[in-house]
Amino acid sequence: MNNLNPKKPIDYRNDIHPVWCAGCGDYGVLKSFTRAFAKLELSNERIAVISGIGCSSRLPGYCETYGFNSVHGRSLPIATGLKTARPDLTVVACGGDGDAFAIGIGHIPHAIRRNPDLTYFVMDNSIYGLTKGQASPTTSTELKKMRGLPGAEEIPVNPALFILSCGAGFVARTQAGDMGHMTEMLTQAIQYPGFAFIHCLSVCVTYQGREFQTGLEQKIHALPEGYNASNIDSAFQIARNDPWALGVLYRRPPEESQFSPVTEPVDE
Ligand code: SF4
Repeated sequence: MNNLNPKKPIDYRNDIHPVWCAGCGDYGVLKSFTRAFAKLELSNERIAVISGIGCSSRLPGYCETYGFNSVHGRSLPIATGLKTARPDLTVVACGGDGDAFAIGIGHIPHAIRRNPDLTYFVMDNSIYGLTKGQASPTTSTELKKMRGLPGAEEIPVNPALFILSCGAGFVARTQAGDMGHMTEMLTQAIQYPGFAFIHCLSVCVTYQGREFQTGLEQKIHALPEGYNASNIDSAFQIARNDPWALGVLYRRPPEESQFSPVTEPVDE
């Protein structure tokens, strides 16, 4: 039967005005979340958005869904616990690069090996925005030198490579300036039965500067034509050698899954 009253993206937004700086990439991410929820025709009361701490982790506060702005780096244990207790919910964990790959990094391999059916969306602007511009684990040596940040020679974390190495079954990359692409990646990630990761290249207009945005736009591109996302070797090659390619880097074929996602509720 046709849905005569389909949900619209605005149905997933509350009336709280975001406190993000004008031009922050997080606005686009929020819109892509609401678009994906509408596209999948999800009931508001069946969605939970769980975050850690940081500018981007404010996102659940602006969604007309259940949500939890939790503790720094702890979105994944909370999201995993929620999904285990309430497998009927669509659970999306989100946060920034600092939240994910500094204090939160120890939780990632364990969430992946438990393989809960949830999506982890990391908004990577390569800097700590909320605490005013320190280097994060993904800050490039180039940006560190440009901004005069300490630790300029430290090797940055490669998010897609790290997550693939941990064994995730779905890994995609997108960018905050393209809501259509973000919505598509998020939709596919939510539909994937198991742990799905999205690396979202974003921009902090306040602490990176406009030149970072321009540089990002010049470097990003789609995955090569004919790219086979079910080939793990190709995914590792792209993750290692091409940090600017956007799309689904890896989707594990169902017959290669060693573990069923956590879908059964725990006993009362
Ligand atoms: S400080 Fe940066 S990341 Fe934080 S809201 Fe402003 S632009 Fe966005």
